[in-house]
Amino acid sequence: MEQLRWGTPDALRRLLCEVVSWKSMTLTEGEREFPSKVQAKLAEVTYFRENPNHLELHDADLGRRFLTALYKHPSAKETIVLISHFDTVNTEEYGDLEEYAYQPEELTQLLLTRKNELPEDARNDLQSGEYLFGRGTMDMKMGLVMHMGLIEKAAAEEWPINLLLLTVPDEEVNSSGMRAAVTKLLELKDEHQLTYKLFLNGEPVFTQEPGDKNYYVYSGSIGKIMPSALFYGKETHVGEPLSGITAPYIASFLTQRMEWNPMLQERDLGETTPLPVTLQQKDLKLEYSVQTPYRASALYNVFLMKRNADEIMRIFEKVAKSAAEACNEAYKRVCRELSAEPVGSVRVLRYEDLLKHATQKFGEKKVEAIKAGIHANREWDDREKSFRIADTLMIQCQELAPAIVLLFAPPYYPAVNSSEDELVNQCVDYVKKEGLAKFDLPVRQIHYFNGISDLSYVNYRDEGEGWTTFQANTPVWGSSYSIPFTEMAQLQAPVLNVGPLGKDAHKRTERLHMKSAFEEVPVLVEGMIKMIMNTKIKD
Ligand SMILES: [Zn+2]
Repeated sequence: MEQLRWGTPDALRRLLCEVVSWKSMTLTEGEREFPSKVQAKLAEVTYFRENPNHLELHDADLGRRFLTALYKHPSAKETIVLISHFDTVNTEEYGDLEEYAYQPEELTQLLLTRKNELPEDARNDLQSGEYLFGRGTMDMKMGLVMHMGLIEKAAAEEWPINLLLLTVPDEEVNSSGMRAAVTKLLELKDEHQLTYKLFLNGEPVFTQEPGDKNYYVYSGSIGKIMPSALFYGKETHVGEPLSGITAPYIASFLTQRMEWNPMLQERDLGETTPLPVTLQQKDLKLEYSVQTPYRASALYNVFLMKRNADEIMRIFEKVAKSAAEACNEAYKRVCRELSAEPVGSVRVLRYEDLLKHATQKFGEKKVEAIKAGIHANREWDDREKSFRIADTLMIQCQELAPAIVLLFAPPYYPAVNSSEDELVNQCVDYVKKEGLAKFDLPVRQIHYFNGISDLSYVNYRDEGEGWTTFQANTPVWGSSYSIPFTEMAQLQAPVLNVGPLGKDAHKRTERLHMKSAFEEVPVLVEGMIKMIMNTKIKD
């Protein structure tokens, strides 16, 4: 049998350091170049030398690509998809150590000379010698490295199962890599006659609270959606405040009611989503003047477990209606007391209603031209474009003002959960049992990975209105953002996340627990895959 390149803990450690050194912050040149480096690395493996067409790069967006590597056993149909993302967040927080953020061995040594700068927990971990520090070590290049090691071994030992390694860009921003990969997964399924049995992600374990020493596996992934609002008031001059109504005033009523609203919190299987919170609230007025601000926007973050976009829109609408009612009452009271004539009542409408109104008024052509004008602005991201489209339509439809226009801003990560799935339960039991037996490692199950992951885009289950409401109320839908819901619904296989232990993702103290990453988890995942192979042979 051929000598494995990545078959030992030391070899995995060296591979990790090399892969981390290939900088790949989201939306940088490094992110564009990264997958071809992984491809070159995997191309050294005998199996891929003999089957070069099983190792392919595919286009995502903005010049970015994702990589698929398929180990196909001649008589196996059942396939495990090994998912990872290779982009990382930025490194400014490393300060004068920034150039070492991508050199884990050097960085870890350097930090020892200035350990007093570190918070206590990180300092203790550093001194223990058990951790490797660096950007991307934990989140999540180790997951990719582990998958590379597994596919090499599976091919060398001719495991009777198929493994499809998929590594994608852009997870940290919009998941455009994974959204593009969905269609490719369907194509590969047909092309190679694959049956997808499990979508296995390798995101790291996140501590649940400071000092948490538990090891977790995740049988699902929390969802996230951003109900957002455009507030359109009536302009006036500061000298005549009662001849108009400002957008910040209207917004204040909704934001008060959205932030920490328990109606937008979910519970499932004993777990609870974090409460909703405001991510942004601002004027759309571009410069200072004595005209009052009559257009503003707000973006709210809502986590999901079971609800879909349609259910969120219904609740959001209810909250917005009560906000508008309270706003109208307060405003009319002031007008009464000061004997002023109110400019009107704030109404609540969905973006789809605004769009319908505008299309009836101006025709589809003009509406499309308005949208295209907004998309032409390269400075604006999808969030800004969403508000600007609604805003520009409202400027042309002022008969609807004052108003709160409800919409969705990207990204949207549907919640996904396989806790009821039999195979997933077998896998979880296996890791629990073997973790304890082999490594004295207590393993616990979490039903929803709380870090947001690409698993959101497989195993989609939603009949009816869930996604059509999202499509209809997302102003940038179909131009700069879309989600392949129909294709996602065709990728029906359970999801699971088993990755290495780490701490402080997205912080300068990001670090990976070496024993977990190089010794324990690769052995557990390998055993788990073999357990799946053997279960298959039995039935
Ligand atoms: Zn991640």
